[in-house]
Amino acid sequence: MDYQKIIEKIYDEVKPLIEKGIVADYIPALAKTPANKFAMTVSTVNGEEFCVGDVDDNFSIQSISKVFTLTIAMNMIGDDLWKRVGREPSGNSFNSLVQLEYENGIPRNPFINAGAIVVSDAIFEGRGKTKNKILQFVREISGNNTLSFDEEVAESERIFGNKNRAMANFIKSFNNLNNLADDVLDIYFHQCSICMNTKDLAHSFLFLANKGINPKTGDIILGTRKTKRMNSLMLTCGLYDAVGDFAYRVGLPGKSGVGGGIVAVVPGELSVAVWSPGLNKYGNSLAGTKALELFTTYANNSIF
Ligand code: GLU
Repeated sequence: MDYQKIIEKIYDEVKPLIEKGIVADYIPALAKTPANKFAMTVSTVNGEEFCVGDVDDNFSIQSISKVFTLTIAMNMIGDDLWKRVGREPSGNSFNSLVQLEYENGIPRNPFINAGAIVVSDAIFEGRGKTKNKILQFVREISGNNTLSFDEEVAESERIFGNKNRAMANFIKSFNNLNNLADDVLDIYFHQCSICMNTKDLAHSFLFLANKGINPKTGDIILGTRKTKRMNSLMLTCGLYDAVGDFAYRVGLPGKSGVGGGIVAVVPGELSVAVWSPGLNKYGNSLAGTKALELFTTYANNSIF
């Protein structure tokens, strides 16, 4: 398959969409991101890589980090995690508070903010230790030792994260948070602030295309059954409340973030990361979603 030719054609086709989306500004540090950016990387389990656009630009991965912390939690805690967080799509926005009250502080899934906050609590071993563990994990699976937190973004989230703070305290009132809300939020804000480019992101998700094994090192990152579950969760809950539309148009498990990144997985073959900061009304990259729709159309590689 000539992926290079395919992604170059996609780049041409999505150009009119690139500046049409809205860059997230509810986290003020993100609002500075130029709207005219686009990058796409395909990384195969056989070690090939195909790139187009601004692939060396780092961006804030935001909610995509929820896959990394969930991977750590699945390894650390196992099935007990599911006593504290559900596995169903929420049908509400990613930062919604309403469901939490009538569902007694048990978030619907680990990819909405409330669920990710519970996951960060579940892996908490101290602020410094946990942040370090997350960073080491992301460096290991991406193969890039220079990856880091963007302290400006993390601080901006801390200052303006009143809804997340409300959520964490609300969850704690239902006894579903073991640590102090501020300690857990420090982890959560930092994991969201991790900066990567699309090459790093595609590399980081390759284990999910390879039954949990990092194809570059042979290391088992997640067991086979857990990998199946992670991909299923991404398919059903990974794209906010536009997850049905994404499954309909793209047909791959994926995860998005309000920094404009989306990463998707073709099991057995490849991972594909795309970045364009302008978002649609659901918080997913506008050009990025279209690019992935065109990708599975031209490469005929949706899982369905
Ligand atoms: N840090 C962001 C927030 O909590 C993550 C949002 C996202 O990418 O979905 O609001």
